[in-house]
Amino acid sequence: MIQLRDLSRQYRALCPRMEHALLETAASGNYIMGQAVENIEDQLAKYVGVKHCVSCANGTDALLMALLVTRIGEGDAVFVPDFTFFATAEVVSRVGATPVFVDVNPDTYNISVSDLQLKIEAVLRDKRLKPRMIISVDLFGQPADYEALRRVALYEHMLLLEDAAQGFGGAIGARRACSFGDLAATSFFPAKPLGCYGDGGALFTDRDDWANEARSLRQHGRGEQKYDNVRIGLNSRLDAVQAAVLDVKLDAFKHYELNDVQLVAKQYDTLLSGIDGITLPTVPNDYLSSWAQYTVRFEDERLRQEVRNALTDCGIASAIYYPKPMHQQSAFFGVPQFGNNYNAEMLTHQVLSLPMHPYLSECEVDMIARIIAQCCKGRRM
Ligand SMILES: *Cc1c(COP(=O)(O)O)cnc(C)c1O
Repeated sequence: MIQLRDLSRQYRALCPRMEHALLETAASGNYIMGQAVENIEDQLAKYVGVKHCVSCANGTDALLMALLVTRIGEGDAVFVPDFTFFATAEVVSRVGATPVFVDVNPDTYNISVSDLQLKIEAVLRDKRLKPRMIISVDLFGQPADYEALRRVALYEHMLLLEDAAQGFGGAIGARRACSFGDLAATSFFPAKPLGCYGDGGALFTDRDDWANEARSLRQHGRGEQKYDNVRIGLNSRLDAVQAAVLDVKLDAFKHYELNDVQLVAKQYDTLLSGIDGITLPTVPNDYLSSWAQYTVRFEDERLRQEVRNALTDCGIASAIYYPKPMHQQSAFFGVPQFGNNYNAEMLTHQVLSLPMHPYLSECEVDMIARIIAQCCKGRRM
């Protein structure tokens, strides 16, 4: 059986250190927040290159806190890619603002800056909402086009929030993901590039006031004194055991995992290039993906299904991220639309994510690529 992301194989590789970290936490008697959490926040902030890291209970809460500290709310338009995980847009509606769904670039799967400009103009013409924020997603591990996004945000006086839930470890030039927005959120859900053993997340920002408010928000809006609550907050803390797990995993991530997924991606690229009917993921020059997913496109839904079936028959997992664009989600029924998102719709019929993780062997990638090549060669025209 070849899994999409084999976390037990990772556990076996990290085992002696991980066991020690887990047992040490159990013996410490300190289970929520504390020294281990402060320690991982420092390490993460340093790695990413941002002044503050505020850990919390999950990536969704990290996004939510970013919206709360920037006072996003009713009457505000928040531009989000139409092709993403539900949470990116969910938090916008959660605070009473309106998500505006923007089409994506079919090569990088990330938000289309030209369509973003069209959607902003449409919202301005419509006059009901005030454009306040862009949430860009580093989908499947690859940073969005931040040079262009920052220009648009600056010109339109909007904030830029980087949803790096899948993007941790990615980079553009020397700058790392989680440092590209005014604020950034990441997730430590087990299957993300840097995952813990349960739920976890973090907010990153250079601004002291936002970081301080987020630190208060995650503990019920606490003030300077513990039992003086100065605002309505959340219960969204990181557990000490998750911080200990992240401490071990960040080390492996920095030393070899991020590098090893690049090798797996290269092997896929080499073996699958030049095959008719399949389009490989594009990584622009100077960009580094942390390969949360290796997602290819097939020319039509039928070929995708044939490949999926062939993989399943050989015990190989695959997944469709995502089968539905945001604007077609039942929960967003009635949310105003500001134009079409043809690429996002097209992608839902074409994409397939293949097994991708640093512990995948050359032999396994070879077998996966051979099965795909076979299907494409034998496809009916
Ligand atoms: C996983 C994910 C989230 C949410 O993270 P959780 O830790 O599961 O709450 C948000 N945005 C994107 C793009 C994600 O992939």
